[in-house]
Amino acid sequence: MKRFARLNTLSVLLLAASLATGVAHAQLAPSASAAPTQAGAPSEARKANIVIIGTGGTIAGAGAAATNTAAYQSAVVPVDKIIASVPEIAKIANVKGEQVFQIGSESFNNERLLKLGKRVSELLRQPDVDGIVITHGTDTIEETAYFLNLTLKSDKPVVVVGSMRPGTALGADGALNLYDAVLVASSPESRGKGTLAVLNDEIHTGRDVTKTNTFKVETFRSPFGPLGYVVEGRTLYFRLPARPHTMQTEWDIDKLDKLPEVAVVYAYGNVNPASVDAAVKNGAKAIVYAATGNGSVGDYMVEPLKAARAKGVQIVRASRTGGGVVIRNAEQPDDKYDWLVTDDQLPQKARILMALALTKTNDTKELQKILWKY
Ligand code: GLU
Repeated sequence: MKRFARLNTLSVLLLAASLATGVAHAQLAPSASAAPTQAGAPSEARKANIVIIGTGGTIAGAGAAATNTAAYQSAVVPVDKIIASVPEIAKIANVKGEQVFQIGSESFNNERLLKLGKRVSELLRQPDVDGIVITHGTDTIEETAYFLNLTLKSDKPVVVVGSMRPGTALGADGALNLYDAVLVASSPESRGKGTLAVLNDEIHTGRDVTKTNTFKVETFRSPFGPLGYVVEGRTLYFRLPARPHTMQTEWDIDKLDKLPEVAVVYAYGNVNPASVDAAVKNGAKAIVYAATGNGSVGDYMVEPLKAARAKGVQIVRASRTGGGVVIRNAEQPDDKYDWLVTDDQLPQKARILMALALTKTNDTKELQKILWKY
């Protein structure tokens, strides 16, 4: 792998010009001479070494015209080109790019998740690496962030970042998001806060962050608010993650070689019980039932779910509402059926947590404790 090189602004600009990526962005970064020195802003004296891992997504996307803000091809621009298109980054950190995938994030699966996590872990072990930024499609960024938050064994900052508009679009958000992500990954204040997601001037914990809109740049939300902001080259934290992460969890990415199959079955009026049977037939070890409301289960769905449990498949009641906790033994007698409930995890996040939990135990009491803990 390339060694860290101090990128000189002129060479980066020349490189950017010669690459002719067509990626444009506003000059929003403070100049080196005006770089702030308050807490949260890296100074010249302590420029961090940051590896930027490229995995694809819209931040690596390109559209046919500048007015294509929502219709374009994702995962086409190599990570080194993306980095070269934001020369301001060289003023705040020593960066090097590494392309791990070039995919839309909807194509992440367990194998790719494990591969990414193991590479991140390997890099974090290198003494000359201070932090990692992962460019990622926004569709499943929340799943990757939660997974890394639960499995990485390091206090060094790891930041996932994406964009809602390709670099070719009017009002492209990727350049500033990437700059901000490097800033956050370089900040000593970001250490020990778990995997972070940086988009649209906000810093979110990987546990909570979720995509809530198909095209708007303010799509990322955490139900209890972001941890902080990035503004004018400064990282400003206001909250801390309350749930255990990274060093405090029972999982270690280096020791994970396979994740058990966990299916999500989405509930709706007239949901077909065959979807439960299909999950069981496909080898699911657990079914996260994205139920209505407070985890309510239609009368005709109770028996199929009980039958799946009788075959050894764990049943987790979650909610499709997008918020709130699912109350144990409220809508359904979980104790009697030996079912589980999520805490406030969205179904797709509960899927990640259950897969990890099942690598430790198949005991429902223990599994419930894990669902309530993380
Ligand atoms: N579907 C693509 C992905 O998640 C593009 C969406 C995006 O990155 O915003 O990678």
